[in-house]
Amino acid sequence: MDHSVVPIDTKMVGRDMVTSAYLLRGDEPALVETGPSTSGGAVTDGLAKLGIGPADLAHVVVTHIHLDHAGGVGILAGRYPSAIIWVHERGAPHLIDPARLVASTARTYGEEIARRYFGDVEPAPPDRIRSVEDGDVIALGTRSLEVLYTPGHASHHVALIDSETGGVFVGDAIGVHLPDVKVLRPATPPPEFDVEVAVASIERIRERARSVLFLSHYGEVPEVDAMCDLAIVRIRGWADDVGSALRSSEDLDEIARLLEKRGTAETLEDAGSGTDMERYDMLSSYRVNAAGLIRYWRKRWEREAQEANGSPS
Ligand SMILES: [Zn+2]
Repeated sequence: MDHSVVPIDTKMVGRDMVTSAYLLRGDEPALVETGPSTSGGAVTDGLAKLGIGPADLAHVVVTHIHLDHAGGVGILAGRYPSAIIWVHERGAPHLIDPARLVASTARTYGEEIARRYFGDVEPAPPDRIRSVEDGDVIALGTRSLEVLYTPGHASHHVALIDSETGGVFVGDAIGVHLPDVKVLRPATPPPEFDVEVAVASIERIRERARSVLFLSHYGEVPEVDAMCDLAIVRIRGWADDVGSALRSSEDLDEIARLLEKRGTAETLEDAGSGTDMERYDMLSSYRVNAAGLIRYWRKRWEREAQEANGSPS
C-alpha cells in the first residue's frame, strides 16, 4: 500500500493497536474514525507528526457512531475548526446530541467501564455535520470516498471506498482482527446487530474491495476473500450457537460461557495456545456479543411470529 493512507493509533485507554484512525493525505486531508474522546491527545499528536495542524484537517469521516469510533468527534471538531464531519444520516443526530448514545453504551458495557473507556463525550457542532447515505461520494479534493451502506453491526454503519487506493474502510463490519494476534472475532453488540444484514454487508464489501480492507480494530488486511469468508462463517457459527442455546436457557452468563467456549477454539485455530486476548475482551467481550445475539434472535422470532399470524393461509 502506498503512503496516501496512514494509520494513526488512537491508543484507546492507553493501549497499543486497539483502535485505529486513518489519515488520508491529499489537498484536503481527511481523518477516518476518531477513536474515543479519551484519544483526543493521541490523535492530535499523531496528526501533528504527519504535518497536519489545527488549520489543515479538512474532513472527519466516521463508519458509525459507536464511541470507540466517533466518541472523539466533538473534541476534534473543536481542535480542527475547518473540518467537516461526515456520518450516515441515521447516526448524525447522535453526534449532535450524544446523550442517548452514552446511555446505551453504559447499558451495554456497565457504567464504570463505559466511563473509563470512553470518557466524556462532547456534542459535535450541527452546522459542520454532513449526512450521507448509500452511493454518496465524499469529495476530498483530489481523492474521494464512496459511501457503501453496510448495516448489521449497527443500523447506521457505512464502509468507505477510497478512490486512490481501492481500499475499503470497513469499520466493524468484518469484526475485530488485531494484527499482532491475528484472531478474527465477530463484533455482535446490542442493540442492533443483525446476522443476515451483516452477512449481506460483508458480501457488498467483498464485491467492491479492489485492494485491502482497513479495519478500525486494527490495520490493513490484504486477504479480502479469506477474511470475508471467515467473518461470515464465524458470525453464523456464533449466531447458531446462541439461537440453539436460547431454546433451553435465557441466562446471559450461561450463553456467554457457551460463546467463550467456541471463541476459545477459534482462537486456538487462528493463533495457537497462550494467546493474549485481553484487548479483544475490551472491545468485544463474549458477554456483550452474547447479549447482541440474544436480542437479535428475540426480535427475529417475534417478527416471524407476527408474520405467521398476519398472513392469510
Ligand atoms: Zn468498534
